Amino acid sequence: MAAPASCPLCATEGGVPVWRGRRLRVIRAQEEGLPAFYRVVWNAHAAEFSDLDAADRQHCMDAVVVVERVLRERLAPAKINLAALGNMVPHLHWHVIARFDWDSHFPGAVWAPAQRPRNGEREAEVAARLPAIDTELVQALDAWQQHPATE
Ligand SMILES: [Zn+2]
Repeated sequence: MAAPASCPLCATEGGVPVWRGRRLRVIRAQEEGLPAFYRVVWNAHAAEFSDLDAADRQHCMDAVVVVERVLRERLAPAKINLAALGNMVPHLHWHVIARFDWDSHFPGAVWAPAQRPRNGEREAEVAARLPAIDTELVQALDAWQQHPATE
């Protein structure tokens, strides 16, 4: 599918670059109050998940699982949220968000109204761990790319 000239995920990385493969990339979003917020972005312009063929869909979700596992192991969040909306940016991307019971929107969706004030101290604790998490994501995604067979 041709990329619309206005598509921000065709024009830019879409966040802090973490890892790039031939078909997809992983970026870290910079969303206020939600420090452990990553996105798996399909490199080619595709609006809907069903625009991908079966092998590409499997590849995409395997990458989501790799990111989810690293966040679980490193942060022990209350929950991982996975979402693909694309209403604002209709270029296929999966949100992989570590959620905590202290975050300002929990247990609501991150796009819903806040439920409590932000906890700057806890946010800073998570943010301090992001460089190590990014490094581990690169290692895990490299290992997956070399041996993509699912267990
Ligand atoms: Zn695009």
